[in-house]
Amino acid sequence: MPPYLAPPARITAWLSRLALIYACFLASPWTLVARPVKPNFIVIFCDDLGYGDIGPFGSTLNRTPHLDRMAQEGMRLTSFYSSCSVCSPSRASLMTGCYAQRLDMHVNDKNLCVLFPGDRKGLSPSEVTIAEVLRPHGYATACIGKWHLGDQPAFLPTRQGFDRYFGIPYSNDMKETKDGTRPPLPLMRNERVIEAPAEQSTLTKRYTDETIDFINQHQDRPFFIYLPHTFPHVPLFAGVDYLGKSGNGLYGDVIEELDASTGAILNTLRKLRLHHRTLVIFTSDNGAMFGRGRSNGVLRGHKGTTWEGGMREPFLAWWPGQIPPDTTSGALASTLDVLPTLTHLAGAKLPENRILDGHNLWPVLGRLPGGRSACDYFYYYQMDQLQALRDARWKLHLPMVAKRRNWGAPEPASPLMLFDLSSDTGETHDLADAYPAVVERLLQQAQQMRPELGDRGLVAQGRRASGWVESPELLRITTR
Ligand code: MG
Repeated sequence: MPPYLAPPARITAWLSRLALIYACFLASPWTLVARPVKPNFIVIFCDDLGYGDIGPFGSTLNRTPHLDRMAQEGMRLTSFYSSCSVCSPSRASLMTGCYAQRLDMHVNDKNLCVLFPGDRKGLSPSEVTIAEVLRPHGYATACIGKWHLGDQPAFLPTRQGFDRYFGIPYSNDMKETKDGTRPPLPLMRNERVIEAPAEQSTLTKRYTDETIDFINQHQDRPFFIYLPHTFPHVPLFAGVDYLGKSGNGLYGDVIEELDASTGAILNTLRKLRLHHRTLVIFTSDNGAMFGRGRSNGVLRGHKGTTWEGGMREPFLAWWPGQIPPDTTSGALASTLDVLPTLTHLAGAKLPENRILDGHNLWPVLGRLPGGRSACDYFYYYQMDQLQALRDARWKLHLPMVAKRRNWGAPEPASPLMLFDLSSDTGETHDLADAYPAVVERLLQQAQQMRPELGDRGLVAQGRRASGWVESPELLRITTR
């Protein structure tokens, strides 16, 4: 038989093998398809969720089957940071791709670390948010959850590019005071208070329902949903279906409800056949507080600090057909990168005439050939003080005569320390004496950023003005 004529049995075996490969291809959640021109985006942003609080990042206390599946079908980033260890500055960065120090959103009008009800400050209306980048390109936009970038009308989500807003305007512990300086916690629809105080035990369910409703209503056009959950920020509340059900107390109940919420959203996308057209990101605004049941995994420190536990976040990205399943990357990335990444994927233009601090992360998430993070250095600021910086491997804690703390506690001196994060994510072994050249290089790098974003006592030349109102009002159910 001529060599080019294979025997029938061999042809049958080849065909069987081809059929098997094709079947695997169809069954895989990662069937690489052409990237949609204007994909949908959903950014789920938990409040104070720790690095070790969910299954994909090692939690054995909380059951998170939906997030486990999301990780199996998507990518985990293990070196993803929020730009700040507390709420308002962190959110300002996510929305704009800029360090909060650049936006004058690193402190409130009284030099405290976050905004409070009736604050005169807010994210400047002249800053360009993700929603404002996407909306001119035909995107429907919704903010569903906790805003915390200013509660005055000029600063609300509806004035920052969002078609729809439903949620609480600041943290859920900023409740009514007897002296009347704070109103009952408002729940808002667009610019109107519809409930005060907000019934917190139903918030996660109502946010989830609102998100699914928005997806259903906009399945025929591109949409961007920003879902900044109220929890697990304290005080904790879980829905009746979750209360007392976890093995980790009320904290576990709350985490498991957030997991179920994410599962309901992903299932909606699957049911509507939108999963190939939608990038979903799940992460947190800062690390977990110190306390029983909460976990930042092996990381040192907690919310409110520039240790890794305060600012390194669990991060999942899910987009069947575009992001390879069950993958992990240690690429250096942060909330600063979300706006540039979504802008790139939508084919939109980055905000002009201003400096952004983030980079397009798609080469990492999409596993593009040679794809790497464009972030060479990440800066750990606490209010007006640069406390640390890192590169792909090393983290340098800068020496400080008085280390800025968020809550008015005494500010102790803090020594220079160097940690090799590639082998010591827990920041336990100071290697400053062993690697003087690395210390010197990072000190010089810090020196380059100081004039731009400021440091205690040093003016930030790269700072733009925040929004400001002279006579703020408190949000009450009768005001609008
Ligand atoms: Mg927070």
